[in-house]
Amino acid sequence: MSYVTKSPWIIHYDGSSCNGCDIEVLACLTPMYDVERFGIINTGNPKHADVFLVTGSVNEQNKGVVQQIYEQMPEPKVVVAIGICACSGGVFRDCYNVMGGIDTVIPVDCYVPGCAARPEAIIDAVVKGLGVLAEKRAAMEAKEDKAELAAETEGKQDE
Ligand code: SF4
Repeated sequence: MSYVTKSPWIIHYDGSSCNGCDIEVLACLTPMYDVERFGIINTGNPKHADVFLVTGSVNEQNKGVVQQIYEQMPEPKVVVAIGICACSGGVFRDCYNVMGGIDTVIPVDCYVPGCAARPEAIIDAVVKGLGVLAEKRAAMEAKEDKAELAAETEGKQDE
């Protein structure tokens, strides 16, 4: 089975943050950086998204939301942790209800350090994430081809 390919769409979620990194994510969409020229679109629907951008840390209150968005995204998908808060908890790390970085609740593919993360670094991480996405897609296709071949061989043996 071959998968339909399209321009990468992103979804952005802000955990416990100061909103500094969110402003930098928005900057990527402005005419100054203009990631939309690459076909990258910011969607509000996890079911349409390939790349999950997360800013801020995870706490007991928002961990379920982060997990739910991740689970609703179709495979293959990649997660990019933006800013030191999303990478490790950052300045919020020792707050009473903070669990740490995003990778405490979902798998993360790319980390963008910085406080706040620079738009150039965010775009660089998204591009790296697209490479990871392509690898995951290829692995899924190879797995399905192998399963189809095994089913065909099994069918021929039954004849
Ligand atoms: S990394 Fe810095 S700028 Fe980004 S959300 Fe955390 S405190 Fe704010």
